[in-house]
Amino acid sequence: MADLVVTLNAGSSSVKFALFAATAEWPRLVVAGAVEGLGAKPRFRVDVVGEKASERKLAAKLTHRKAIAEIFKWIEGAYPAATISAIGHRVVHGGLRFSAPVIVDAETLAALRAFIPLAPLHQPHNLAGIEGACEAFPHVPQVACFDTAFHRGHAFVDDAYALPYSYYEKGLRRFGFHGLSYEYIARRLRIIDPIHAEGGVIVAHLGNGASLCALKGGRSIATSMGFSALEGLPMGTRCGEIDPGLLLYLLESEGMTPEELSHLLYERSGLLGLSGVSHDMRALESSDEPRADAAIAYFIHRIKMEIAALTAVIGGLDALVFTAGIGERSPRIRAGVVEGLGWLGLALDATANARNDSLISSTQSRIPVFVTPTDEEAMIARHTIEIAGLSVAAR
Ligand code: AMP
Repeated sequence: MADLVVTLNAGSSSVKFALFAATAEWPRLVVAGAVEGLGAKPRFRVDVVGEKASERKLAAKLTHRKAIAEIFKWIEGAYPAATISAIGHRVVHGGLRFSAPVIVDAETLAALRAFIPLAPLHQPHNLAGIEGACEAFPHVPQVACFDTAFHRGHAFVDDAYALPYSYYEKGLRRFGFHGLSYEYIARRLRIIDPIHAEGGVIVAHLGNGASLCALKGGRSIATSMGFSALEGLPMGTRCGEIDPGLLLYLLESEGMTPEELSHLLYERSGLLGLSGVSHDMRALESSDEPRADAAIAYFIHRIKMEIAALTAVIGGLDALVFTAGIGERSPRIRAGVVEGLGWLGLALDATANARNDSLISSTQSRIPVFVTPTDEEAMIARHTIEIAGLSVAAR
């Protein structure tokens, strides 16, 4: 049997995992699953390729560490003869230091802990995933794959805030996120449309978290997210672009504490805050509330603005790609964005868009518009296979 690689993506209320076979061309998915509902009603979901998905309840009050132990126990039970050769982890922040995946040792782990203040809502869970995996498989290489790494080569003007330069030197910069998704899409686009993939491409990763990335020659040039995962587009519950003066006002004049402000910006804003209905695009699209429509209009408006800005950064647009939950499955959002950018040379094929086809631009469109499913797990598996130096089986 080919080497098996596990990927772990430990978030605040879920731990997603997948099992891949290391093959010469591209990692082959064997199983995907997750422990979801941590902190509420935990469930264990497993989706074995070619079989029916299954789900079972787990004991309440399950910690992240116990969830991870549960996942490894299941893998060992389901594949007793298999050898786990490496474990790849999604880590949200690699700071200034990590511009590529790394094998985790004690020193790396300490460095990653130092980035917790940069991503307090995600990094601790990611590190708990690494610690839990080290405990279960102490002799198996653990590879950290970063959401920030793909963006580390940005020019100063796309990396800096106009604060005193000492802040830039200290590392208070525009890091950007969703890098594993963008890297995967950049690779896919080389297969789907190799000519345009070499030019200026904007990828719209529109999910619960949302951002845009401008690529040139498959490399990240600029992105809408910055120092934190709050900047740029409005998201399910995060505010996106905001005047920092407004934050000062809330702190000074409304007497908000930093904790209250953090909760407001990360949990109560975005589509949820604007609509008062839901953070979830499907719910908004099926709602009759005028404020749900207003939230959708705001979302589309900001995406158009950011695409126009990023087009200027890369000096013209050769292809636009939609990905992630909303990008892959919402014809309404894509239509709003593409039709609003007609002046740029984009034209929609309404039928292809309604079908979520992989090419949704019309033959009149000067610029092709693609819908491409992202696969961050496969990207983690690919990095893990390469970094851990695993032998790969032919497909
Ligand atoms: P993700 O974070 O990538 O899983 O994306 C989650 C978002 O995708 C949520 O806002 C969902 O409502 C949205 N989504 C998923 N399916 C659809 C759909 N068919 N139409 C509109 N939005 C969708």
